[in-house]
Amino acid sequence: MSQSRATASPASSANDFINDIISADNAQGTYAGRVQTRFPPEPNGRLHIGHAKAITVDFDSAQNYDGICNLRFDDTNPETEETEFVDSIITDVRWLGFEPADIFYASDYFEQLYQWAEYLIGKGLAYVDEQDSETISAQRGGYGKPGIESPFRNRGIEENLDQFRRMRAGEFADGSRVLRAKIDMNHENMQLRDPVLYRIRRGHHHRTHDAWVIYPTYDWAHGQSDAIEGVTHSLCTLEFASHRPLYDWCLEQLPLPFEKPKQIEFARLELTHTVTSKRRLAKLVDNGILDGWDDPRMPTLAGLRKRGYPASAIVAFCRGIGVSKTNSRQAIEELESYVRRDLNKVAQRRMAVLRPIKLTLTNWPEGQVEYFELMNNPENPDDGTRKVAFTGELFIESEDFAEVPPPKFFRLSLGREVRLRGAYFVTATDLVTDDQGNVVEVLATYDPASKGGNSPDGRKVKSTIHWVCRPYAVPVNVALYDRLFTTTVPGDATGEPLDDLNPDSRELLNVCLAEAALAETEPGEVVQFERLGYFAADPQQELFFHRTVGLRDEWAAIQKRQR
Ligand code: ATP
Ligand code: MG
Repeated sequence: MSQSRATASPASSANDFINDIISADNAQGTYAGRVQTRFPPEPNGRLHIGHAKAITVDFDSAQNYDGICNLRFDDTNPETEETEFVDSIITDVRWLGFEPADIFYASDYFEQLYQWAEYLIGKGLAYVDEQDSETISAQRGGYGKPGIESPFRNRGIEENLDQFRRMRAGEFADGSRVLRAKIDMNHENMQLRDPVLYRIRRGHHHRTHDAWVIYPTYDWAHGQSDAIEGVTHSLCTLEFASHRPLYDWCLEQLPLPFEKPKQIEFARLELTHTVTSKRRLAKLVDNGILDGWDDPRMPTLAGLRKRGYPASAIVAFCRGIGVSKTNSRQAIEELESYVRRDLNKVAQRRMAVLRPIKLTLTNWPEGQVEYFELMNNPENPDDGTRKVAFTGELFIESEDFAEVPPPKFFRLSLGREVRLRGAYFVTATDLVTDDQGNVVEVLATYDPASKGGNSPDGRKVKSTIHWVCRPYAVPVNVALYDRLFTTTVPGDATGEPLDDLNPDSRELLNVCLAEAALAETEPGEVVQFERLGYFAADPQQELFFHRTVGLRDEWAAIQKRQR
């Protein structure tokens, strides 16, 4: 390894403790200055925002030292894993902007793992237990409660080998035998009380199909897979800390091709108002509560992508919050502020009215059409302008008109003058109501001298509202989203997050109208509807928009309150 690699200093995510450990290893020449990490998902669901955190940490830690990071599927469980999840995980990792050096599968190591299991048996360190799983777990004991040794624990090596080979050959029924490590039934760490290494399970595996009837446990496969690949720093979340002594024990018994990987644990990412557990997310999908893994309310990468979250914002958030050793929950508003910041730079501005009410200019010359040249993005003049048609027949947001204006309401009301964004000053003069007395149309006059929305004589208006021109409007469908769970910590009170599900997490609007330019939005593109927020064009359905986030930075307000 070159010296420059060994001493390279971290490029991005500051001086966190993981970098400190890697730097120290490099300084001491451990792993000959090599840095290799991996992101190891189990393909039993789609990736969520928590995984984005792990992915960012795994890839950044390698990249900071010119090392490599692989994607490895820990696909040891035939029952829950699917090729569909493998494909979506690859897509999602790449979408975040990370390219794995290689894509590996723990299932490719099944033969090696099996051989190593025989090797362990040969050393007298593993045995076949014929007790059922309930008995085995009951015998495990607990903290301060010693375990009970299995009556099969002291079988001879030859008998164990014979039993294990017959397990592989399919001679025994599912669940009738397991292979266990022979460590210590009184160990203070439960993980080391003769853990199960192999189970008999006639499941159809998505890659090895029906080649195996025995499958390694995650504990037996994970550390050894790292070792087979030459992983140097095995980064994972805190819940695996208690497994580390077991992984180390296994690795210490085996003739490894590389130096033993070093496991480093960091805190999981949790977000307020949502859940980041595949099991819980799967429940939302399987129970039909949401529309699927990519429902825009899901904290999955597929959901966030459909919702319009830029990958850049997700990664910047993961880097921004840093890596820690204690679990905590991040405010979802903070993630949203990253999203807003990125979208502000790139999203084209458009006008759309979600709940329209007619606005008719009574002094507008019959048949006249004008075009206003509006900036696509004031944050980025290079994005140019677009022409927006204007006539005396308009729609405005019904919320922007009040028949009886409440205190501090400065938008349109009878006798009040406001600016129509980029067009004219208008003053409401009269109302049209339906049979029930609902306002269905507002009549107004415009001041021709205020063209472009500029005050002709220095007089001021207290508000600017958005509008859409009726003859040129395109109908759009819009989905507005609220928090998926009403509480900051879903399930905090009852233990069941579903108890806190927000029944109004989605509102579908199908009477919205937008300026003509909206029809040219690309699938998946995010635009800003002036005054309403950022909206992502649905990848399939034309003229259907998902609200990504509103415009107001709630995170700034939360921080202010905390100070
Ligand atoms: P879940 O609890 O959602 O099922 P998991 O840990 O079982 O997640 P894996 O596919 O095993 O999911 O995870 C792959 C990697 O992602 C692991 O290294 C795991 O530590 C990490 N990871 C999972 N959830 C989070 C999270 N919320 N924050 C950070 N890292 C996570
Ligand atoms: Mg897991």
